[in-house]
Amino acid sequence: MLKGKTALVTGSTSGIGLGIAKALAAQGANIVLNGFGDVEGPKAEVAALGVKVAYHGADMSRPAEIEDMIKFAQAQFGQVDILVNNAGIQHVARVENFPVERWDAIIAINMSSAFHATRLALPAMQKANWGRIINVASVHGLVASAEKSAYVTAKHGVVGLTKVTALENATTGVTCNAICPGWVLTPLVQKQVDAKAAAGDISNAEATKQLLSEKEPSLQFTTPEELGALAVFFCSPAGNNVRGVAWNMDGGWVAQ
Ligand code: NAD
Repeated sequence: MLKGKTALVTGSTSGIGLGIAKALAAQGANIVLNGFGDVEGPKAEVAALGVKVAYHGADMSRPAEIEDMIKFAQAQFGQVDILVNNAGIQHVARVENFPVERWDAIIAINMSSAFHATRLALPAMQKANWGRIINVASVHGLVASAEKSAYVTAKHGVVGLTKVTALENATTGVTCNAICPGWVLTPLVQKQVDAKAAAGDISNAEATKQLLSEKEPSLQFTTPEELGALAVFFCSPAGNNVRGVAWNMDGGWVAQ
């Protein structure tokens, strides 16, 4: 379905980003990966799906590097048809104790990077009259949890950016939507499970059970594969008139 298209997925060396990159690759899209840590493993996983894959190591807190990444992707594959703004980090602390440097980093990486990548990718999508911008927000773009001030602020911002981008392009072939996952067992969440286990002096399994039962009625993690399938739907012809939604996949978290 996406043969001949190019998808740039930020923060795709791990977790949800890698899951979405592989789902888009399975539909034939060439992929530009981004993120830190092991690069060769994720590259090989995507290449095994029979598409072209490139990598750019832009630090998403730096607008100049984001600009370089968009230019690189366009030079590699001719255009960016699908932009998935996914890179993100977390820090947990009460507002009065929140380290200012962590606040600045979360706002830059989880929110402002989506603005920069979007503003830089949009003109070519508008010219082609086809494009898909998918922002990986969170249930925390819709509701709050204690001790996550920067994350909740950034994710609510991303949902707002999604709506404005969708409206400004509503009469064109460019759509913009957000995905709002509940708990997904990636390294970002494993850190929170480990902290809970340490704080309560309980096993990892017990900490996982507590984490899920506090917020997620299904008591199940959402998977990167399920989120990838939703991204594919947004890119499909059936997603043509889906504009500005913030679609939660959260085991009932925000239904409560
Ligand atoms: P993860 O830690 O597995 O992956 C994060 C990715 O972002 C990695 O590839 C990492 O290298 C990259 N990254 C981090 N800082 C970066 C930077 N400065 N520049 C470039 N890349 C950077 O986490 P994940 O759980 O897959 O999270 C992906 C997205 O999904 C995030 O935006 C997160 O907020 C969101 N999300 C996660 C969950 C969850 O439960 N895991 C729930 C809702 C939303």
